[in-house]
Amino acid sequence: DIPVLTLDGPGGAGKGTISRLLADELGWHLLDSGALYRLTALAAERQGVDFDDEPALVQVARQLDIAFLPDEQGARVLLGEDDVSREIRQEHIGGRASEVASMPAVRDALLARQQDFAQLPGLVADGRDMGTVVFPQASLKIFLTASAEERARRRQAQLQSTGSHASLPDLLKEIQARDERDMQRSVAPLVAARDAITLDTTELSIPDVVARIGALLAE
Ligand code: C5P
Repeated sequence: DIPVLTLDGPGGAGKGTISRLLADELGWHLLDSGALYRLTALAAERQGVDFDDEPALVQVARQLDIAFLPDEQGARVLLGEDDVSREIRQEHIGGRASEVASMPAVRDALLARQQDFAQLPGLVADGRDMGTVVFPQASLKIFLTASAEERARRRQAQLQSTGSHASLPDLLKEIQARDERDMQRSVAPLVAARDAITLDTTELSIPDVVARIGALLAE
């Protein structure tokens, strides 16, 4: 059995950073499933696909030609030959990703590709439905949350570190709209798996969260 640790939760709860640190520490593989939805959205835009055309979006998802190359800052993400690591992090692509992610057939088209990441010695899987849909047999399931205000502040800091800027009220509005859509959608809505452990990270530092999850894994 391949050990799988799932980290699900809303955007800005710290999943990305924490998943990367845990994967480094454990020497496990990392799946950034949000990046797959972002890449689908970006590839669709580049191909001029209409976002109402579900079958065309499914084709884009099936035919995604992508690679994740580990480096010090996380991973470089390639779409074909292009390094799109920064481009896929734009708020606008996040919104588009959440649109394509609300389509069951698109999620289906990405399912096996995500499951293929489960390789020895283990996998840390970051997303919304890792514990509920993609890896229901995971060894440990964590649901990370934080207040919307705190998540907006973190997103702002993250954007600043990449040289972009957005106002807090705008970010808060976007985060709430995205949460709403992710929780209300009929397929793979954002909910904690029954057997997940919920950690509220509003008042916790990143090293604290990593240490807590490490301790849970060791139990
Ligand atoms: O986590 P990230 O912000 O990169 O995800 C972008 C969007 O992709 C989310 O808002 C969500 O709608 C979608 N997503 C999803 N299932 C996942 C990961 C991301 O529906 N496992």
